[in-house]
Amino acid sequence: MTPFAYRNALDQAGALSLGTGGDARFLGGGTNLVDLLRHNVDSAAELVDVSRLPGAIRETGNGGLLIGASVKNSALAAHPLVRARYPMLSRALLAGASAQIRNMATVGGNIMQRTRCVYFYDADGARCNKRQPGSGCDAIGGFNRYHAILGASEDCVATHPSDMCVALTALDAIVHLAGPDGERAVPLTEFHRLPGTDPHIETVLQPGELITGVELLPADPAAVNSEYRKVRDRSSYAFALIAVAAGLEVVDGKVVQARIALGGVAAKPWRATRAEAALHGRPATRENFFVAAAEELASAQPLDGNAFKVGLAQRTIAAVLASLAGDRV
Ligand SMILES: Cc1cc2nc3c(=O)[nH]c(=O)nc-3n(C[C@H](O)[C@H](O)[C@H](O)COP(=O)(O)OP(=O)(O)OC[C@H]3O[C@@H](n4cnc5c(N)ncnc54)[C@H](O)[C@@H]3O)c2cc1C
Ligand code: SF4
Repeated sequence: MTPFAYRNALDQAGALSLGTGGDARFLGGGTNLVDLLRHNVDSAAELVDVSRLPGAIRETGNGGLLIGASVKNSALAAHPLVRARYPMLSRALLAGASAQIRNMATVGGNIMQRTRCVYFYDADGARCNKRQPGSGCDAIGGFNRYHAILGASEDCVATHPSDMCVALTALDAIVHLAGPDGERAVPLTEFHRLPGTDPHIETVLQPGELITGVELLPADPAAVNSEYRKVRDRSSYAFALIAVAAGLEVVDGKVVQARIALGGVAAKPWRATRAEAALHGRPATRENFFVAAAEELASAQPLDGNAFKVGLAQRTIAAVLASLAGDRV
């Protein structure tokens, strides 16, 4: 590990002034970044600790929620308003990592966590375009059970590992940012990038820019009637093979609104807009749920080791929607 300086930011202005110089990086709970530094996958001259910046969960004027970037994953999962109004978010958080890690991990750090592709972490031997642009991608012809089936490129087939972000994507969350050029807000669906020819550029965050919070819109019926289901190789402490965050509003037997996002399928949390559109106004039946799921997966391009994900994703989407429709189907 290359030595680095450590600075503790006391407030947002202090974080921004410390974080804009040279090779400085923001530090949340350190549960991902410290591993990356330790294994020489990443490096930094200076870490600016933003994990103690004031951060709270508060209601906005319009009935939504504003969640500070330094809020711990465990605190967010346990918050009564999150559990009551956005249950898919609480469940997604609880499906991630372990209790100890959730107590350390911050909202900002969770959004910015890096892929779990094993070749990305193998800085001593593997070729990886994300870690070293232009070097190649050992996952494409190698172990790719966990890799992408949607939105990948010839240069990278990694997936985004966050559970929390899948639920936030289904909920149309907005990421609040502050940087040298001022403040801005970006929909989470536009925050992470697909790999294209430059997989090392993973988000639209600019150098020196800080995530200050995440905003949830007022909960609609499809946010309240929602669920998160994660399919993985072990029942706990494992990353998703497939994850589905979904919410459903059914009136008179027809789908009025569906919110669906997928994890474990792409370099970003995948909003299932095709499935949502296919369901709109249609009877809430198991058959229609499966047809809509198949429509979303129609453009999937699986690799040698993960073709099973296509059918698994379809079945999981359909099963979660049927569960949300309850005894109506
Ligand atoms: C063993 C293990 C199992 C795990 N299992 C899961 C799992 O099943 N599901 C899951 O979703 N996650 C899982 N994780 C990942 C975990 O959720 C992340 O490590 C964690 O959320 C990162 O948050 P952090 O605050 O510790 O970030 P850090 O490690 O401190 O930082 C991560 C990145 O975020 C940047 N950053 C931090 N805060 C900000 C900010 N405010 N603005 C801009 N950039 C910022 C840092 O510079 C760094 O690049 C697991 C981790 C481990 C170690
Ligand atoms: S899939 Fe992406 S992260 Fe994994 S080895 Fe290939 S380029 Fe690297």
